[in-house]
Amino acid sequence: MTDYAREEHGDFSGAVSQALADAPLQAALARLTDTLMTANRRGYAALADSDKLRTHAKRIKQHTLAHLDTYLAQLDESVRLAGGHVHWAMDGEDACRIVLEIADQSNCRSAVKSKSMTSEEIHLNAALEAAGIAVTETDFGEFILQAAGERPSHLVAPAVHHTRESIARVLSDHLGQAIPDSPESLARAGREALRAHFRRADLGITGANFAVAETGTVVLVTNEGNGRLTTTCPRVHIAIMGMEKVIPRLVDLPVFLKLLARAATGQTLSVYTTLITGPRREGEVDGPDEFHLIVLDNGRARILGTPFRESLECIRCGACLNACPVYRRIGGHAYGGVYSGPIGSILTPLYDGIRDYPQLPHASSLCGACQAACPVKINIPHMLLGLRELEHRHQPARLERMAYAFWHQILCRPWLYRLALRLARWMLRPLSRDGWLRWLPGPGSGWTRVRDFPAPARKSFRQHWAELES
Ligand code: SF4
Repeated sequence: MTDYAREEHGDFSGAVSQALADAPLQAALARLTDTLMTANRRGYAALADSDKLRTHAKRIKQHTLAHLDTYLAQLDESVRLAGGHVHWAMDGEDACRIVLEIADQSNCRSAVKSKSMTSEEIHLNAALEAAGIAVTETDFGEFILQAAGERPSHLVAPAVHHTRESIARVLSDHLGQAIPDSPESLARAGREALRAHFRRADLGITGANFAVAETGTVVLVTNEGNGRLTTTCPRVHIAIMGMEKVIPRLVDLPVFLKLLARAATGQTLSVYTTLITGPRREGEVDGPDEFHLIVLDNGRARILGTPFRESLECIRCGACLNACPVYRRIGGHAYGGVYSGPIGSILTPLYDGIRDYPQLPHASSLCGACQAACPVKINIPHMLLGLRELEHRHQPARLERMAYAFWHQILCRPWLYRLALRLARWMLRPLSRDGWLRWLPGPGSGWTRVRDFPAPARKSFRQHWAELES
């Protein structure tokens, strides 16, 4: 299995070419994204007034972000009242340090973890391993990736780039026994291996799909049940959440639960929805002795005051990835960051710096399919355009600058504009066939290498207008 992970400042175009040339990856992407896209449409269609519900969800998110300080303070108080501890992390390093301190104070040496993009964002596994704490991913897809030494390539289907055969190879190597490539055998092998880890672990680490300010409840949505084992078997539970995951009231939760499952997989509801309010109480049989909630900023507060605030409304359903014609061809690894697809093309440059990821805002056709699929109607194309503008302001390419200066001169002189159009028509007409140009010289060749370019119209708009008027 090829790993398409590119280092920071790496070659995005190279990673894209590699992905496009990988036939098994192309087949896996087509299969998964088609299935999930169809499920997404079916899921919305089966929901009465899905459009109104999506608008309602957006309003809740907008309201929460507008009063984020209030709701985070309320969440802090509610978690403490329920017997939990709240920690505030400025960035990934800070969050990792807090996790290690909790592990040290509670004498934890072995951790199990359920799927959490926030923990990927802060590179938690590397920090735990460096501190000598064994950590096991318990989501089956993540377990495969950990064994293969790879990063997730999709928000909800992290091992989408793997086939049944490659999973059997990875698990056979990892577990030291030959595992047949049937889904049943693979699931059985994963389950047996993971149960042993659950029994041993003294620390359980999860993300949080939502956190309810009113009650201090952390909500986990999974399909495998590993989240429940991660939060009930070990002595200590740490939940790590981005600060934008807070929602005001428990009554708001069903709005998001209905939409999240439908947008992600077309399910009416995910198989396991786990609500955790503080540690185990007296008389309860399940649950940890200690519950810690780490609230992560890592650039989110900065984004709050910018035109990109809407990106904080994301509930990480993955629907925009499945809908995106770019993601559907290149998969997640080519994007280079933790988050991929259309929302990743916004989050990665915002969190990690536009200078390190200048190409991501351009990895979109701006067709709007992402916004149409999004359960909270995030205007992704608009923000991608905003990032393109930002990137241009930060590091305008010399050639691009010259091209725009040249174009500016032409646009300021109508006679020159008309002359330029006439010249372009005169030069390009001989190259056109059936209204299309199959080859363009110079920089235009990049376009015609992969698709045709519309030939200039026989008459300009101005000529048509003049004819109409006469
Ligand atoms: S941007 Fe919308 S569609 Fe994409 S992952 Fe976030 S919530 Fe889902």
